[in-house]
Amino acid sequence: MSMPTKNTALATDTPPKPTGYSHTYSLKYASCVSWPRSGHHLLVRLLSAAFGDSFQYCEYYKAQQEPGHDCCGSFPCTKPGISMSKQHDFDLKHDLPRDARLIVQFRKFLPAVVSEYELYCNKRPAEHDTKASFIRYARGRAKEYPIFIHKWVRTPRSNRVVIDYDDLMQSPSEQLNRVAKFYGVDLTAVDLDEILNSARHISFKSGKAAVHQATGVKNRRDYKNFRYYDEKLFGLLQKESENYPE
Ligand SMILES: [Zn+2]
Repeated sequence: MSMPTKNTALATDTPPKPTGYSHTYSLKYASCVSWPRSGHHLLVRLLSAAFGDSFQYCEYYKAQQEPGHDCCGSFPCTKPGISMSKQHDFDLKHDLPRDARLIVQFRKFLPAVVSEYELYCNKRPAEHDTKASFIRYARGRAKEYPIFIHKWVRTPRSNRVVIDYDDLMQSPSEQLNRVAKFYGVDLTAVDLDEILNSARHISFKSGKAAVHQATGVKNRRDYKNFRYYDEKLFGLLQKESENYPE
């Protein structure tokens, strides 16, 4: 499928802030909706490094899963002083007003689903990891993908930044700047190299997690090396992921 056009509408109601990340900003809340494995945690780490304590993140899912967590568990976030909270819209039932401040992250379907499946395996006994299990998992996600893309990436909105994972990998400072501008902060004069080079990377493969410190921003995975890759199957999955239900 042709990749969605990017909507780069920027907030215009926030006055310009001084440049540099040692200042304390008030970052106006934005919701984030991300397709799983689209670089959300990387983006959050980069924003935290760039903005320091000014960037306050509310973890919607942790609050849902761990009672007593100091996050609010609502979407959009209801806590004062929060800059961003995210969710995946797994049930495709969430909604936001068309002019709500929104950051959307997505990734091409095949690499995303392989990465998501690895994460899923990481949480389950090894014997569940079979080709049949992957196919079941991937076909379920392929049904949801076109609905997600249509709903969050393609449907016109007035106050949204869309971040394509591939762009985040290829031009991380540019993408970080786009998000900073959305928050009304100009980072163009800030040396982002240190922030980018110190980014941690967490990988999941065959049920094991590995943290690679300070690897910088790189796309390491080629889904064609995945243990259940076969050309025909992946061609079918790609087709299914483009099939928006009429
Ligand atoms: Zn919250």
